[in-house]
Parts: sequence; structure tokens; C-alpha cells
Amino acid sequence: MNDNERRALNEALFRDVNERIAESTGRFADEKTEFVCECADPNCAERVPATLAEYESVRKNPTTFLLAPGHDEPGIERVVSDRGRFHVVEKVQAAVRQTVIRLDPRQRRAQSEP
Ligand SMILES: [Zn+2]
Repeated sequence: MNDNERRALNEALFRDVNERIAESTGRFADEKTEFVCECADPNCAERVPATLAEYESVRKNPTTFLLAPGHDEPGIERVVSDRGRFHVVEKVQAAVRQTVIRLDPRQRRAQSEP
């Protein structure tokens, strides 16, 4: 496994954590929830305040992630949206894109449905 794949795995892991946070949070789309930063650093403990609606808009695309400002890795991703409280990044490095698409929990769920 190369460094980029390892980074992608870390980010996919944080995404899974946030999926559980999103599932356990209330139904109020405008209410802010503390998500975890989905950056490549396995030791990152930053919390990212975002509403469920904001989170859902990031999750629609399997290659976009929610990060604390300044946590992006320029070699593998680019900031596509600066929302102040958080940045949205899109994976641009090919192996990283493949990995995060393969591990997308929304895709896995769609495939397991009858
Ligand atoms: Zn981070």
C-alpha cells in the first residue's frame, strides 16, 4: 500500500465515523452537529461544526470530503468550497479517488439493497 492509499483509507475511516454521527443525530437539517475532520491525518481530532444539510451535500459525491480549514493535502485533493467553518475538498489523485469511491458507504448500501 502506498502513502496515498493509506491517506485515502484514513479519510474513508473518518467518513464512516461521520456517517454514524449523521445517522444518530436528530432530524433537524438546520441544526449544527459536530462532525469529525475527514483529513488524511489518522491522529487528527478536530471537530467540524456543520448542519446535516451541509453534511449531506458533501456526501452526495463519493470523492468530496469535509475538512477543518487548512487540513487539505494539496497533492491528493483540492478545496472546492470554503464555508468558513469548514472546507469541502475533492480528491484529485487517481489512486485516492478509486479508493474512496470503492469504500463509499452510500454506494455499499445501495448495492446491498434488493
Ligand atoms: Zn484534520
